[in-house]
Amino acid sequence: MKTIGIYVHVPFCLAKCVYCDFVSYRYKEESAERYLLALDREIRLWSKKLRDTAVKSIYVGGGTPTCVGGEGLRRPLRALRKHFSVLPGAEVTVEVNPGTLTAGLLEILRHEGVNRLSVGMQTADDKLLRFLGRGHAPGDVAATMRTARSTGFDNVNLDLIFGVPGQDLSCWERTLGVAVALEPDHLSAYSLEIHPRTPLGAAAAAGSVVPCPEEEELLMYLRAIEFLAAHGYEHYEISNFTRPGKESRHNRLYWEGEPYLGLGPAAHSYLNGCRWSNTADLDSYCKNLERQRLPVSEEVPLTEEDEMAEAMFMGLRLIEGVSCTRFEARFGRKAEVIFAKKIKGLVAQGLLRREGDRLRLTRKALPVANVVFRAFV
Ligand code: SF4
Repeated sequence: MKTIGIYVHVPFCLAKCVYCDFVSYRYKEESAERYLLALDREIRLWSKKLRDTAVKSIYVGGGTPTCVGGEGLRRPLRALRKHFSVLPGAEVTVEVNPGTLTAGLLEILRHEGVNRLSVGMQTADDKLLRFLGRGHAPGDVAATMRTARSTGFDNVNLDLIFGVPGQDLSCWERTLGVAVALEPDHLSAYSLEIHPRTPLGAAAAAGSVVPCPEEEELLMYLRAIEFLAAHGYEHYEISNFTRPGKESRHNRLYWEGEPYLGLGPAAHSYLNGCRWSNTADLDSYCKNLERQRLPVSEEVPLTEEDEMAEAMFMGLRLIEGVSCTRFEARFGRKAEVIFAKKIKGLVAQGLLRREGDRLRLTRKALPVANVVFRAFV
């Protein structure tokens, strides 16, 4: 039986953060109800098409999934288990924002088989939280962690952001210190991207906000690697750090080129050699499903060349790199032959190295990994 991961996009937030480029709408009860009904239809339609498929991970992201409340989240979680064959021990993650949850909500999630939480901490600095438009205060993260632990969650991720305008290295170090003191099982640290079509992008274009200098951002990234390693977190993917045995299994599936189904507005899928995304427009997403039609908006069949390139640039995100044996088993061709010239060039630049069966990024390449990825596109 084939296995897949399922991503569910919950497209609501209480307010929009200034840097946010994700598809999310301001939460309204009527829109959420219409969305949940549409999502239920989407789950049923896909389950009929994927009868011979088992689900090994589920990730509910957003948006702010907890906006729809425990009862709202219970519905898709139950529907997925009812209509799909979810494997015993499957990893089931829900993203939660500090300040939007209660013990009651987390108890519902536990009861529905959720076994991993991803908490949007971002920073421990109150001023930066307000600058970013996040709806929580620093103390809410500790309260969320306490509630998570007391309701039985033993796998909790904290999401952090660095390179925020106005943030310096010592401010970032304080955030790392606060985060580690909360003893999460996993940490993700992403640099802030300033997207042009956001309020932050407009402010940066107008010169009223000065982006964090690249050199400072690089120092923050390197500091995170060093600091988290010193506190027992293994750096296993460019932006991800884990305690032993707590890697994100769902995200690993993306990095290893395994198939996944995306449900909800703007969700992306990769199945049977095709990539597609759902319509991002909430109304059109719901209308399609009210007419029993899948809300697929863009479908791109991938050639074998596309899939091999993806296997390289996604696989190289993992610190362990790409297994040449696994690549050959998947494609019947050797990565070292197909990409011989590119690999030689990157090795000569000190960005890639061969270690036993694996091709992996060097430490020098980590902060400029996009240069390596672009070489394979
Ligand atoms: S909580 Fe996340 S999805 Fe919602 S507005 Fe902020 S960054 Fe965007």
